Amino acid sequence: MKMKKTTRWISFLLLMILLPVFAGAETVITSFYPVWLMTLNLTDGLDHIDVRNLAAPSVGCLHDYQLQPADMKALSRADLFLINGAGMETFLSVIGETFPSLPVVEASAGIPLLQENDALGLLEESPEDDASGASSEGETNSHIWLDPLRAVQMAENLAEGLIQTFPADEPVITRNLNSLTDRLRALNEELSAGLSPLPRKDIVTFHEAFPYFAAAYGLHVVAVVNREPGETLTTYQLGVLAEEIKKLGNPPLFVEPQYEDLSARVLADETGSRVWSLDPIVTGPAENPPLDYYEQVMRSNMQTLIEALSD
Ligand SMILES: [Zn+2]
Repeated sequence: MKMKKTTRWISFLLLMILLPVFAGAETVITSFYPVWLMTLNLTDGLDHIDVRNLAAPSVGCLHDYQLQPADMKALSRADLFLINGAGMETFLSVIGETFPSLPVVEASAGIPLLQENDALGLLEESPEDDASGASSEGETNSHIWLDPLRAVQMAENLAEGLIQTFPADEPVITRNLNSLTDRLRALNEELSAGLSPLPRKDIVTFHEAFPYFAAAYGLHVVAVVNREPGETLTTYQLGVLAEEIKKLGNPPLFVEPQYEDLSARVLADETGSRVWSLDPIVTGPAENPPLDYYEQVMRSNMQTLIEALSD
């Protein structure tokens, strides 16, 4: 009896000593902005989980991202790594080799993906002609978060991963998940109602970020000027593209606020098409972004599209 009491006291004392060490020691790393935003929503109210983003909020898409020494240091201390998947994190194999015991959760798990070429709608027109699109053949498009219903599935996958690592927090994570997915479904309804009546559907984009969004709301991406940001076109290529755009009836051109695009100006001058801006939400406030930041930007994108495609 006396022994038992002493043991209990020792356990209690040990707990008091160890608690401050473990408090706040749980770190979740997310790979880039959209996954960070979702995870902040899912862990809202859980102050013992520190959610940090790997890439700086200004990095944008991770297509050419090189892991930095600071990233490796952060990952070595992490409890969980949450990623987009679908090919966005090209450095993934390095993570697996360097941190074999770090759990990695892919938000894209089980989500139907589009092939890069499907988005252009060119496959039906020329199934045998693979010469021009050979470099991207078989590649999937990774910009899944721009379809709010796919974002629902992403949130569900991330929540499942968080619950596996932090089972005690299941009630809070589940409540946060339900509130987030309700909001995403409402956003989807709003976007459908706003975009489906538009008289024009054709858009030209400057980075292949919008095929999932376009597919969700009946828009047609008739051309992607640069498959990924930073690609530059020759004067000859720009001339060919300008002719194509004129043939298509001068659809509006959509650049992204993250990337300055000189070819957009050239094409606008050549064709008379207007240049607008659509935000793929790969950047945003670096500190304490509003939890509904994604929805805010999606609504503002909708207003831009309504204006650009109404006349
Ligand atoms: Zn991208």
